[in-house]
Amino acid sequence: MVTDYMGDEAAIIESARISYGGGNRRELSKGDIGLLRYLIRHHHNTPIESCELKVRMELPIFVARQLVRHRTASLNEVSARYTELQDKFYIPADDVLQPQSQTNKQGREGILTPEQKHQIKLLLEIESNRAYNNYQTLLGNNFSKELNKRLQEVNTRPFDERPQLKVPASLQADENYPGLARELARMGLTLNTYTQWIWKIDTHNLLHFIGLRSDPHAQYEIRVYSDKLCEIMQGWMPNLMSAFYDYKMDAVLVSGPEWEILRKYLQDTPQGIANDFSQCERMSKREREELWYKIFGTKGEF
Ligand SMILES: Cc1cc2nc3c(=O)[nH]c(=O)nc-3n(C[C@H](O)[C@H](O)[C@H](O)COP(=O)(O)OP(=O)(O)OC[C@H]3O[C@@H](n4cnc5c(N)ncnc54)[C@H](O)[C@@H]3O)c2cc1C
Repeated sequence: MVTDYMGDEAAIIESARISYGGGNRRELSKGDIGLLRYLIRHHHNTPIESCELKVRMELPIFVARQLVRHRTASLNEVSARYTELQDKFYIPADDVLQPQSQTNKQGREGILTPEQKHQIKLLLEIESNRAYNNYQTLLGNNFSKELNKRLQEVNTRPFDERPQLKVPASLQADENYPGLARELARMGLTLNTYTQWIWKIDTHNLLHFIGLRSDPHAQYEIRVYSDKLCEIMQGWMPNLMSAFYDYKMDAVLVSGPEWEILRKYLQDTPQGIANDFSQCERMSKREREELWYKIFGTKGEF
């Protein structure tokens, strides 16, 4: 959920045009849209840093551990020293439950049967609830009735037939137990327990984040958050995002030797390339000239 934001595409243009003394805020012109594309294309990043987005997120701890690696964001997280965490857990939906990939050490791939998926979800749910119940016991709260009810809902087998789920009775029965400090009691919670934070980042670093985390190589669970942020950006800064897609998400990095090979072929078809330019409306005159220069090393006329 967006809680606050600062700036817009006009603010980025204002910051960019201050370089040569211009920069009054106004409606975006065609030239301004070209300038947004130029900034993205040439990594002229600081004008893009001039806007900020602040969001409130609720996310499983294992996803938070990935997100926190993005050091250019500022965040404030709910403190499990001050408050008790809620009994809210991430249980994956059927369509994202898959075996370990044999080709990608960090990925998932293949198919599980519906029964296997059912059992996995059951196990995760039982394990999360069991850990949460122990958390409550350590805190000195009696949560077992509530847990019993919830487990009855997820598993038709009666609770008493599953002795491995029983929590150490002595702590619960001990009337003089003062309860363990929250900062220690949380240790046994499962990583799918939800945490909450307020996360603030500037737009350049948000694009960097989306580039890494909306990529198919990123884990599905963090991609969901990144894709949502991407959607927010598209509504807020559609021209910047169009350039970002053209020059980052849909772009292909070509190495020096690869480019040598490609350029040789391209140099044989100058007329075809000139014709293709007229088909591509998204590219400005300047972008066409830049591409022509890359291929032929001369200034083209378009
Ligand atoms: C698919 C995928 C797999 C990953 N797997 C692993 C893994 O197995 N293990 C693991 O530990 N991590 C892993 N990561 C995390 C990854 O290594 C980065 O920590 C994370 O993506 C954040 O990237 P970043 O540093 O560019 O972003 P940010 O921290 O947001 O920084 C943005 C940019 O600011 C600059 N910057 C920020 N801080 C500094 C600094 N202190 N010094 C210099 N420049 C700085 C850099 O240019 C940086 O690119 C993975 C990430 C992805 C996307």
